[in-house]
Amino acid sequence: MTAPANAAVRCDGVVQIYKTREIEVVALRDIDLVVEDGESVALLGPSGAGKSTLLWLLAGLLRPSAGRLWLGGAEVGRLGPRALDRLRAAQIGVVMQNPARNLIPYASAAQNVAFAQRAVRRRARRPAGELLERVGLTSVRDRPAGLLSGGEQQRLAVAIALANRPRLLLADEPTSQLDAESGRAVVELIKEMGPTSVVVTHDPRVSEAMSRTVTIRDGRIGAEGRDGEDFVVIGREGAVQLPPEYHELLPPGSMARVEPLRDGVILRRAGE
Ligand code: ADP
Ligand code: MG
Repeated sequence: MTAPANAAVRCDGVVQIYKTREIEVVALRDIDLVVEDGESVALLGPSGAGKSTLLWLLAGLLRPSAGRLWLGGAEVGRLGPRALDRLRAAQIGVVMQNPARNLIPYASAAQNVAFAQRAVRRRARRPAGELLERVGLTSVRDRPAGLLSGGEQQRLAVAIALANRPRLLLADEPTSQLDAESGRAVVELIKEMGPTSVVVTHDPRVSEAMSRTVTIRDGRIGAEGRDGEDFVVIGREGAVQLPPEYHELLPPGSMARVEPLRDGVILRRAGE
């Protein structure tokens, strides 16, 4: 691949393998993905597909086992730990899947925001009061984060992720515990304050608001959606993931005949 332009994110053949004592789990394989500045991406896929793993990689919290990853033009594999920490603090806001993991439980909501802002210059900080108001937490700003409800913790986590005006906002199911109204408010906030975002979600309100969807299945990017239409992605070596709704017609492991057309191919089950 040639020197990448400064996209917010660029993955080139990224592989993530978790090694436990007994086994290795290939959580992601051959991920090719570019997210340009200004795009908002909904990351979809069944449980265990690798969505959170991809988010951790994009957050600079994991380094790929293989392949290359650029964040804001900097190649993660070439950054030392301190440079990666600096890049994360200055450019990336993260909402992790379990809202409590984003928070210091004994510190108040307002202190949690201040703590997130300690590492960046004053100019880069968003006013804490304004942020807490936007997520509807003004009345509980002095309450310890550990005593907030799940939904309040989730909204606080979003406020914290946006506190340093990140170039890239990453959020893992940020509306899973929110009712319709606060879910909508959070989506609006992400769209407005997180100009480039990648959001893992099962929530159609979120995915419909994003400019693009990317579906991961079994560690691979299987499909992408734009403007309400879904497309399968032709992967490396021409690999295609058939959407699950067609598995009955062409079950995994079956053989198919490839018939060319002028602008594509047809797959037909062999033997008929
Ligand atoms: P998703 O977020 O789409 O549910 P994950 O990224 O959490 O998927 O997980 C992808 C795969 O990696 C799953 O098979 C999961 O069991 C495995 N996995 C995730 N985290 C770890 C870990 N820390 N150690 C070992 N395996 C892991
Ligand atoms: Mg997950």
